[in-house]
Amino acid sequence: MALAHDNLTVVGGGIAGLTLADHLCRMGARVVLVEKESRVGGLARSIPINGQMHDLGPHRFYTHDPEVLAYIEDILGDNLQHLERKTSIRLYGRAQPWPLTRRIFKDMPVSHVVRVGLELLGRSRKPVDNYEEYVKSRYGATLYGIFFKPFTEKFFRSPGRDLHPDWARASIDRAIIDKKPDTDSLHYLISRLLSPKREMRFAYPVEGGIQAFSDRVAHRLATSGRATVMTGSAVTGLDMEAGRITGLTLSSGERLSPGNVVWTGPLGPLFEMAGGGGSGLGFLNTSFHFLTVKHPPRVHDQWMYVPEQEFRALRVTFPANFHPREREGWATICVEVTAPREGSTERDLEEETVAVTDDLVRLGIISHGDEVVDRQSRVVENSYPVYTKNYPAELRRCLARLSGISNLYLTGRSATFSYNNMDHSIRQAMDLSQWLGDMDRPPSREEKLKKILSSRPRYGRVESGQATP
Ligand SMILES: Cc1cc2nc3c(=O)[nH]c(=O)nc-3n(C[C@H](O)[C@H](O)[C@H](O)COP(=O)(O)OP(=O)(O)OC[C@H]3O[C@@H](n4cnc5c(N)ncnc54)[C@H](O)[C@@H]3O)c2cc1C
Repeated sequence: MALAHDNLTVVGGGIAGLTLADHLCRMGARVVLVEKESRVGGLARSIPINGQMHDLGPHRFYTHDPEVLAYIEDILGDNLQHLERKTSIRLYGRAQPWPLTRRIFKDMPVSHVVRVGLELLGRSRKPVDNYEEYVKSRYGATLYGIFFKPFTEKFFRSPGRDLHPDWARASIDRAIIDKKPDTDSLHYLISRLLSPKREMRFAYPVEGGIQAFSDRVAHRLATSGRATVMTGSAVTGLDMEAGRITGLTLSSGERLSPGNVVWTGPLGPLFEMAGGGGSGLGFLNTSFHFLTVKHPPRVHDQWMYVPEQEFRALRVTFPANFHPREREGWATICVEVTAPREGSTERDLEEETVAVTDDLVRLGIISHGDEVVDRQSRVVENSYPVYTKNYPAELRRCLARLSGISNLYLTGRSATFSYNNMDHSIRQAMDLSQWLGDMDRPPSREEKLKKILSSRPRYGRVESGQATP
C-alpha cells in the first residue's frame, strides 16, 4: 500500500478520477482531487434546464463487467433504474431501429439487398490500412456507402480513408455487436438482422441525470475524511526535478507539492506541460443545442443518429425517454453537432442553433420553428479522440515520454486517448487503484508504459510490444 498512501493528487474529477480517488481512499490513502470545472463529472456531466438535469450528450451505463456494474449499483443505490435501449438511425429517409433489424429490408431497394448478399459471399480479409478499408472488408461496400461513410465523414469532417481502422473497431463493432467483438462481420450483422429483435437494458439514474453518479462519488469523498475535492481549479503548470513532478501550479495561483500524480485530463496539454511540445493527438469538440418545445414529440427512442449530410444534426436526443415515470414533464430536445477543436465560436453556435431547429422541422420532429420556446447551447471540449492514421505512433511517443516521469500515472478516456465508455473508465481506474495499492516499489518506465497501453479497452489497443521508449 506504500504508493497509494503517498500524498496522491488526482487531476480531473471525471468518472475515472472520481472512481480512482474513491477506491484509493477506501484502501486507506489520502487524496487531493483537482477538477478544472466548477462541478465534477467530466464528459459525463449534466446541466440544469427548466429545473431538470440534462446530460451534455446522452449517457447510458451498459457493461458486462460484474465488478463495474456492482460499483455503479453501489454508488447509485436506489437512484437507479434499468431501461430498455431504444435507438434509431435514419436510413432510406426514415428512422430505423439501431442496431439494425430485419425491418430495414422493407425500405432497402432490391438492388442493395442483392449487393449486400454478394458482398457477404465475396468478402476478403486482406490487411487493412484505414477505416474505409476495414469497414468495407467487414460489412461490405454497400453498407459502407449508405451509412458508415456519410456518418463518419459528417462526424469527423474528414474522409474515412484518413482514419485509423481502430476507430471502426472502437465504434462500430462495439455499437453493432455488443457482446461478441471477435465475430465482427457482415455475416454476423445479417444473422442479427434475420433473428428477432432482442431487448437490451441499460442502467440510468432515476433523478439528477448522469451527473448523479459523479455527485454521489464526490459526496462520498468529501465525507470520507481522507479526500479533498477542489473544483474550479485547473492544473496549469508542472515543476519537474530529476524526472519527478515536484509541484503542480493551479489556475488560482496556488501550488501543490504532490507525492504521486494521476492525470485523467486530456493527454496533449499534459505532454506540453511536461516539455514534450505538441502531442500530435487531436480531439473533437461537440456542441449541444437544447431546444425546449411547446409540444414534446411522441418519439420512443432515447436518441436518433442522423447520417445524412443535408442535416447539420448528428444525433437528436429525447431526454423524456430517460424519464419514463414523468416523461410528460420533459419538453427539451438535445441536438448534437461535432466540430474540429478550433471550431465553435459563439457566432457559429447561434447560426448552428438556427440550422438544427430547421433540421428538426425537416426531420418531422417538430411542425414549425415557432414550436421552440427556449434555446440553450453548450460546447464540450475534447469530447472525442480523433483516431487519425498515425495516432498509434503519436500516442506511443507521448506515452513513452510521460512513462519516464517516475511519480506520474495516467488513466481514463482523455488521458489514455481512448474511445472509452464510462464503464471502461471505471474499469481502468479500479485496475490502477489495485496496481498502486499492491505496489511495493516504483515501477520502471517500461512497466508503466505497458500498463497504460494494456489498460485501454481491447478495441483500438495500441500493442505495447510496438512501443518505443
Ligand atoms: C456525447 C457523449 C456521449 C456519451 N455517451 C456515453 C454513453 O451513453 N455511455 C457511456 O458509457 N459513455 C458515454 N460517453 C463516454 C463517457 O462520457 C466517458 O467515457 C467518460 O465520461 C470519461 O470519463 P474520464 O474520467 O475517463 O474522462 P473525462 O470525462 O474527460 O475526465 C477528465 C477530467 O479532467 C478535467 N481536467 C482536464 N484538464 C484539467 C486540468 N488541467 N486540471 C484539472 N482538471 C482537468 C476535466 O474537466 C474532466 O473533468 C459519452 C461521451 C460523449 C462525449
